[in-house]
Amino acid sequence: MADSNIWEGIGTLVCDLDGVVYLGDEGVAGSGEALRAIVEAGVELVFATNNSTKTPEQVAAKIAATAGFAADPEAVVGSAQVTAARLAGLVESAFVVGGAAIDAALAGVGIATTDDWQDAGAVVVGLDTAITYDKLSRATLALRNGALFYATNTDSTYPTPRGLLPGGGVMVGALAIASGRDPVVSGKPHPAMAEHIAARATGPILVVGDRPETDVALAIGAGWTSALVLSGVTRSLEEVPFDQAPDIVVASLADLAGLLPAAS
Ligand SMILES: [Mg+2]
Repeated sequence: MADSNIWEGIGTLVCDLDGVVYLGDEGVAGSGEALRAIVEAGVELVFATNNSTKTPEQVAAKIAATAGFAADPEAVVGSAQVTAARLAGLVESAFVVGGAAIDAALAGVGIATTDDWQDAGAVVVGLDTAITYDKLSRATLALRNGALFYATNTDSTYPTPRGLLPGGGVMVGALAIASGRDPVVSGKPHPAMAEHIAARATGPILVVGDRPETDVALAIGAGWTSALVLSGVTRSLEEVPFDQAPDIVVASLADLAGLLPAAS
């Protein structure tokens, strides 16, 4: 595979995080060195994550802590920030089912968060590790009262060293069923995410991720090149649907960096 150079002409690597750079709180072996080699080869980095539970600063800190790579928070595109940008100017307050990072993203565009469902112009949903029946009930009432329905992402699961745990899509799915409505979704593979990434990227884009239905589908939808790693959710090629086939499959980010022209 090394002779068909996937890096040819690439200006920006759009790098997924969970399952690529780290798994839960542990770095994926060799990911920090790989990121340094990619930067040294003159390729720009954009970290694109559907994770809505961390601010860009917290994401950058986690990359540093797990992989030993000093990431710029400005290079982090998270689904909470994209969602907030889309809601800016549409509503004054939102009811959040999710973590504090969503509240912070909304505050960044002037949207207050409220616990009162009758005040909510929108319901914003992401991964909520403190989900309760009461919270789902108030969100359902807000949605049935006409609030806008925005989801940061619809990931079914996310990878941890223990195995796959329920993702943001589980909360979104519960509220879609309870409200009888479909959300506006911002995370990968949705075009809103691609637009925000494109605004930060230079040159042709290569996307690397561990999930065909988000990472590879994002690249296919935007006309970008894609690489699938087998260090996260996807463990074998047999799990990849044919319409979400990547341009290349590698074991890890380290193996992808190993294909850089300067490294071969
Ligand atoms: Mg991932």
